[in-house]
Amino acid sequence: MTSTSTDKNLCELHDGTEHEKVVLWCDPESGYRGIIAIHSTTLGPALGGTRFWNYANDNDATHDALRLSRAMSYKNAMAGLPFGGGKSVIIGENRTINREPLFRAHGRFIETFQGRYITAEDVGTTPEDMEIVRQETKYVGGLPGQSGDPSPVTARGVFRAIQAAAKHRWGSRDLSGRTVAIQGCGKTGYYLAKELNEANAKLIVADVDAAKVSRVVADFGATAVAPQEIFRVRADVFAPCALGGVINDETIPQLQVEIVGGAANNQLLEERHGDTLHERGILFAPDYVSNAGGVMSGCRELLGWDTERTFKAVDGIYDKVLSVLELASNNGVPPAKMADKMAREILFRQT
Ligand code: NAD
Repeated sequence: MTSTSTDKNLCELHDGTEHEKVVLWCDPESGYRGIIAIHSTTLGPALGGTRFWNYANDNDATHDALRLSRAMSYKNAMAGLPFGGGKSVIIGENRTINREPLFRAHGRFIETFQGRYITAEDVGTTPEDMEIVRQETKYVGGLPGQSGDPSPVTARGVFRAIQAAAKHRWGSRDLSGRTVAIQGCGKTGYYLAKELNEANAKLIVADVDAAKVSRVVADFGATAVAPQEIFRVRADVFAPCALGGVINDETIPQLQVEIVGGAANNQLLEERHGDTLHERGILFAPDYVSNAGGVMSGCRELLGWDTERTFKAVDGIYDKVLSVLELASNNGVPPAKMADKMAREILFRQT
């Protein structure tokens, strides 16, 4: 990777991939250090949230921004939305209390893109953080009092994706009596547990935060296991709702489920892990198709959608996932590969 400085606080990173633009920005006064990656604006302005994470170094942060922004292009394309894909990451401790200077710097950085990139919250950021960003730029969604926290809508879409996988695998979308192992009891994990409990599924859950586990156990009668146990519990579905990269060489041999489908972005550590899941006979509901409810939620303020239109789009995730799974099995390819192919066809068709 090479970099070229265009002013003292900014360097553009050219990594030789398909990304349109990747920029690192520093604001020494606030201590802000962030990256905005624009993968594609073929379908519209690049839309994707802001992740605030304590990356070990700039390379790790860049790698994450590149992968996440590409997934956003694919997600928006598959969801039929008039947006391209982008993502921003802020490098640092996301529990910091003094947030205003950082998020104002982030807002100024976003403003330099003049609408080519639109942000919202993601892991480590909140609607309140976005309100601070809003003081510096109008290119931000997910604000308090507007579309707000997208997690319940995301979880609804993930629930519909799991139903589609169940239909494809077992001939019925009915999840009553099925056991779902949820990794991560945060915002999406909690609401997914709620949907599944209402559908009479049995729940096994894990989180590194004991308080979050207790809440899901108390509210939905889930069974708790230790974080490292969640990969090897016997269940029908494994739902990753924590971090990316959890489907990998170490975890795939442990899985005792028939379906993997959850909210986390970039669940496959590498593309080849989609093939390995397939070889093991485990059905994968592609993550960026399943978890598009979050961006659909943002369409309420970005495109003026009403609640009815939003939930119609979210319920459409069922048909979208089912069509990916059917095309994949008809063509004898893993679902992750089929989804990538379909997304790239949409993006390519537009150019
Ligand atoms: P969150 O921070 O609210 O929840 C994540 C949870 O995972 C936390 O409770 C955390 O303690 C837990 N966790 C972290 N490491 C863990 C581990 N090793 N084992 C078990 N638990 C662990 O985040 P969220 O909003 O629920 O998002 C979860 C995932 O879904 C992320 O990958 C995010 O990018 C993706 N996603 C979220 C949305 C949304 O609307 N929130 C939309 C699309 C995708």
